[in-house]
Amino acid sequence: MSPETLVPSLGTAPTSFTPDDFDQYVMSTYGRFPLALERGEGCRVWDTNGREYLDFVAGIATCTLGHAHPAMVEAISQQIRTLHHVSNLYYVPSQGQLAQWLVEHSCADRAFFCNSGAEANEGAIKLARKYAHTVLGIEEPVILTAQASFHGRTLATVTATGQPKYQKNFSPLVPGFHYVPYNDIQALEQAIADLDQGARRVAAIMLEALQGEGGVRPGDLAYFQRVRELCDQKGILLILDEVQVGMGRSGRYWGYENLGIEPDIFTSAKGLGGGVPIGALLCKSHCDVFQAGDHASTFGGNPLVCTVALAVCQTLEQNNILANVVARGEQLRAGLRAIAQTYPHLIQEVRGWGLINGLQIADDSDLTSVAIVKAAIDEGVLLVPAGPKVVRFVPPLIVSEAEIDQALNAVRRAIASLL
Ligand SMILES: *Cc1c(COP(=O)(O)O)cnc(C)c1O
Repeated sequence: MSPETLVPSLGTAPTSFTPDDFDQYVMSTYGRFPLALERGEGCRVWDTNGREYLDFVAGIATCTLGHAHPAMVEAISQQIRTLHHVSNLYYVPSQGQLAQWLVEHSCADRAFFCNSGAEANEGAIKLARKYAHTVLGIEEPVILTAQASFHGRTLATVTATGQPKYQKNFSPLVPGFHYVPYNDIQALEQAIADLDQGARRVAAIMLEALQGEGGVRPGDLAYFQRVRELCDQKGILLILDEVQVGMGRSGRYWGYENLGIEPDIFTSAKGLGGGVPIGALLCKSHCDVFQAGDHASTFGGNPLVCTVALAVCQTLEQNNILANVVARGEQLRAGLRAIAQTYPHLIQEVRGWGLINGLQIADDSDLTSVAIVKAAIDEGVLLVPAGPKVVRFVPPLIVSEAEIDQALNAVRRAIASLL
């Protein structure tokens, strides 16, 4: 049979699917906004009613180059016609090229590819535990993570996540994790000392350079420098979860570059493939203790996603998109601060790096992040909460000056509409 005869008619796309139809067939794991998106171009998306929105969510900090970017269209079209998946039983040249690009643009020496942020962090946890057992000789390794962190939804990464609301009803959790307050060096030193008991010892510290889901909280420079020193003194591995802040979103390729330190291990996902599912675990050679058979992923690093991710990386570099991230980020924060000054009793703070920014609502105000996000949808801009009191702004990294202005005007109208 020729392939053409097997292609189903595209005329049956279920654009008329109502939310009720949808909920009949799809598990209710997500609280969704009542919006069905159908098409996108650049920083704009259109819903099934043809209404246009400025997309400052970008698939949750993922669509680095926005929607339907020519470099992605070209890479996907070309690769799907050539070869899309073969497994890691064989060499995949584009996987090697992507690893080379990542190594040449970071502190890492080697990469492993998987499909998501959680999976990349699972790999980091396994690598750190193997290092603890085989190099450090720790029988019961502990990994320290931060309160209000976010590392994923698999059992180990939801355990690593320092937010009880994500862990509720999923016990027993994975042993070997312990939480410390973020940006608090005394608490960290105390935990390392307290946990050093018998066969148990801290083997790794896993942190975000900027906490994304936990409320867009940047890491403190002095804190991270001291964390690095402590790790060096005690032989502890430093793992940075760069899933959200990495791949250029902070205005530098990696969040840790804003903190003047280098991790031993770091992870990437969200923005790495510009929206195709790919994750990566990266490490320095001294902690690359994985051997054949230790870790694997069927889809990991297949020709399709690696070709696309490589096109995203090269486009970031060749078009000097980091300079845009820095300039547009400054413009956005200045505009948000002007809005905050209009409502000092409602808006407590604007913070972030590059194009990951948060608007912190005052604790004693009744206003919620979801209310602002809903009002912004009515004004034609998509935003995403980062907790109940923080509104997050994570547009595509190619966002223009005019689009930032347009979003700021919409946010101003949205807040005014709630008062
Ligand atoms: C989103 C996120 C993850 C989880 O990534 P998934 O691809 O959803 O598994 C992990 N860490 C951080 C910092 C994230 O923002």
